[in-house]
Amino acid sequence: MKVAERITLASPVLNGNEREYVLDCIDTGWISANGKYVTKFEEKFAEFCDVKHALSCANGTVAIHLPLLAYGVGQGDEIIIPTFTYIATANAVKYCGATPVLVDCENDSWNIDPKKMEEKITPKTKGIIVVHLYGHPVDMDPIMEIAQKHNLFVIEDAAEAHGAEYNGKVVGSIGDVGTFSFFGNKVISTGEGGMITTNNSELAEKMRLLRGQAMDPKKRYWFNEVGYNYRMTNLQAAVGLGQLENIDWHLGQRRRVAESYIVKLSQFNDVFTLQPEMPWAKHTYWMVSILLADKVKASRDEIMALLEADGIETRPLFYPMHQMPPYYEEHSNYPVADQISSRGFNIPTNATLTDEQIDYICSRLVFHCNNNL
Ligand SMILES: *Cc1c(COP(=O)(O)O)cnc(C)c1O
Repeated sequence: MKVAERITLASPVLNGNEREYVLDCIDTGWISANGKYVTKFEEKFAEFCDVKHALSCANGTVAIHLPLLAYGVGQGDEIIIPTFTYIATANAVKYCGATPVLVDCENDSWNIDPKKMEEKITPKTKGIIVVHLYGHPVDMDPIMEIAQKHNLFVIEDAAEAHGAEYNGKVVGSIGDVGTFSFFGNKVISTGEGGMITTNNSELAEKMRLLRGQAMDPKKRYWFNEVGYNYRMTNLQAAVGLGQLENIDWHLGQRRRVAESYIVKLSQFNDVFTLQPEMPWAKHTYWMVSILLADKVKASRDEIMALLEADGIETRPLFYPMHQMPPYYEEHSNYPVADQISSRGFNIPTNATLTDEQIDYICSRLVFHCNNNL
């Protein structure tokens, strides 16, 4: 069987009011970083995350940089992060002149392992950034306990996890700060864009200041410190509002796709497993991920190449930070991240996948794995 078109991993679906809102920006001339869509998008996102403040910004990387700046993180400081994440988490720490201190991940959730965290805390540690990887929430209670004990702030990098829940609490509302990305392949998109959530009004005020070049709110064109231009435009927010109005649909489609994979693939857990959903978690399945068992003799890259030849796009799981030049560690000890990263890949999880496409992907995946034992 051969499908006519390549099945893509992820693609945005703009099927709500996005077009109408963008045209309104163009018709009224409100295309820059002020305007009613910025305000509405922020208000609605705060409501969605059950927090007091939501601040839009240029992308999901600066959404992490801003709270670090607001906390005064700088040279000599250390920030705990998972080694198994997208590089933006580490880079945002580096932008401040601080050092990301890496922690291995758990075998079950694939997220940062709280049991391996405390040994990494030193007098220089200022905070923790956790990452809700691929849409699966982090086990937050033990992390909040550690943070309280050592007086550290907690930032939730929820770039991949809009709407995910931990024990019924939506991510972005559990730590001190939550950060989100609206890049084109994320659960909802604004093209490029980001959002910061917090209940801390003082911190929100500081981040708002830094986001707009730190212009004195009481004296126009007067600056008391170095700020940044990290704003989102009204055009992006118009797309974002249209997407957010439909987020239940977007999340519902991802769950439909993921559940279909689970039903069809769980019986093959001798050759591969899926990223599990922990009992306390509501996984949002930004990406459905496959982990090859040892008995599959082909490499991960070989299986991915076979699927590509079938017209199925896949992508490798993230390389852990400690393997790559900017954050390389000579004598590293992150066995779980090394193992998952080397044997795992994401399969198409976009909202428009049909049952027929899912069947095709499953049958090719099972075929290639069983053919390479
Ligand atoms: C996408 C992503 C980011 C960064 O978002 P951008 O909008 O691309 O800057 C940060 N952290 C994680 C875990 C991500 O997946």
